[in-house]
Amino acid sequence: MISETIHQVNASLPVITKLIAVSKTQSMDKIMEAYEAGQRDFGENKVQELVAKYEALPKDIRWHMIGHLQSNKVKYIAPFVHLIHGVDSLKLLQEIDKQGQKIGRKIPCLLQFHIAQEESKFGFSMEDANESLTQKNLNSLSHIQLCGVMGMATFTDNTAQIRQEFKALASTFKTLKQHHFSSVESFQEISMGMSDDYPIAVEEGSTFIRVGSKIFGERL
Ligand SMILES: *Cc1c(COP(=O)(O)O)cnc(C)c1O
Repeated sequence: MISETIHQVNASLPVITKLIAVSKTQSMDKIMEAYEAGQRDFGENKVQELVAKYEALPKDIRWHMIGHLQSNKVKYIAPFVHLIHGVDSLKLLQEIDKQGQKIGRKIPCLLQFHIAQEESKFGFSMEDANESLTQKNLNSLSHIQLCGVMGMATFTDNTAQIRQEFKALASTFKTLKQHHFSSVESFQEISMGMSDDYPIAVEEGSTFIRVGSKIFGERL
């Protein structure tokens, strides 16, 4: 089942869109089943779980931190994390930069934007971003590699609203690219779309979809 779904999802994606299998709460056995099917990008949302799985599982897995990250936990994942999706403050960016400096690594990050109508979701607003992402602030971050943006749509059946939110994220990406990152080649990713809404995200230009329950079944 797991391998079938992975092949089926991959077959439906355009070349620019990559699948991240969201393995939070899932067993090592299930992750290995996905790995045997050729899957190499996995997403986790808790630092402790991410570190444990990194240590136990094959070293060619690319681990994505997709959850809310606390500054005091950055150091545990800094040496190996492939991409941090949920960077939602200048303070967190600065901490990641500091940890990157310590270990001599430029750590790949995405800026998380608040696109949903729900209160609970983390992320910059466009106004915050304009304040925080000044050239002066960005230039001082020598151990961050900014790779693009990430967002989560509202949990709703209203597909028009979901599409609208993904469009807003894609447009934010374009604006940032023009104003701050036109010469930064790595700034090219838009991480959006989950099990229930990824087909819409793909149509709106997603380059990373983060799919969990569709692949692994419902989480416990
Ligand atoms: C859990 C999670 C996902 C995957 O959700 P599914 O609905 O199981 O596909 C994607 N992104 C983030 C940030 C998550 O926390």
